[in-house]
Amino acid sequence: MTIDIKNLTKLYANQRALDDVSLSINEGEIVGLLGPNGAGKSTMMKIITCFIPPTSGEVKVCGLDIFDEPLQIRSLIGYLPEQNPLYLDMYVRESLMFIAGLHKIRGKEKKQRVEQMIETVGLTKEVNKKIGALSKGYRQRVGLAQAMIHDPKVLILDEPTTGLDPNQLVEIRQIIKQMGKKKTVILSTHIMQEVEAVCSRAVIINNGKIVADDTIEHLALEGSLEKTFRDITMGI
Ligand code: ADP
Ligand code: MG
Repeated sequence: MTIDIKNLTKLYANQRALDDVSLSINEGEIVGLLGPNGAGKSTMMKIITCFIPPTSGEVKVCGLDIFDEPLQIRSLIGYLPEQNPLYLDMYVRESLMFIAGLHKIRGKEKKQRVEQMIETVGLTKEVNKKIGALSKGYRQRVGLAQAMIHDPKVLILDEPTTGLDPNQLVEIRQIIKQMGKKKTVILSTHIMQEVEAVCSRAVIINNGKIVADDTIEHLALEGSLEKTFRDITMGI
């Protein structure tokens, strides 16, 4: 089991952002965490990546507990946060070299990893620009490259395609699907079609609770993915 979540609850003051959530994710799965705004998707991702502590419950990543071994867990995870924080004044290659350095990748290996990532995410043409000069789609590619630079086992991508135009959207989805062949991936989205296009499994979350969890084939076959999600977004 790559990610094991048991009875996870997160309170912000009196508000239950996550309410007794349990979820297990196997190696190699691409899981779409689908839910409307405020469902609790980002909160779950921040807990798994050890950025915020839960109120109660247990989370293990690759067998490691988030309370006992947060640093090791972070080294196993590549995380693209919702706002994709980037250093806009840095050049693309420079920023990737910098992030690789933070992961203690050195020398020849560092250069190789950076060039490999530039190719993987399709940044070759933009590599000599400042990040601030890039379009949103290309900034997302930089974010993805940063998240993958240390070849993490697990990728956590918080709304990686939000705000992209249709062409960029298709390309970023393809990159994620390609990367997902070798990694365990959780991506969040509020677009149902995105889960169908990219993921092997859908976990639908609403008001801090998991309301559906199944393979895409199964959910799509029954038409239940669409129905469950429509009911939620219409507030039924
Ligand atoms: P999602 O990513 O699915 O849109 P979030 O996990 O960001 O949902 O938020 C879940 C709920 O928790 C929302 O109602 C949100 O307003 C609340 N919330 C998130 N972060 C905080 C915070 N730092 N302080 C207070 N409330 C928060
Ligand atoms: Mg969010």
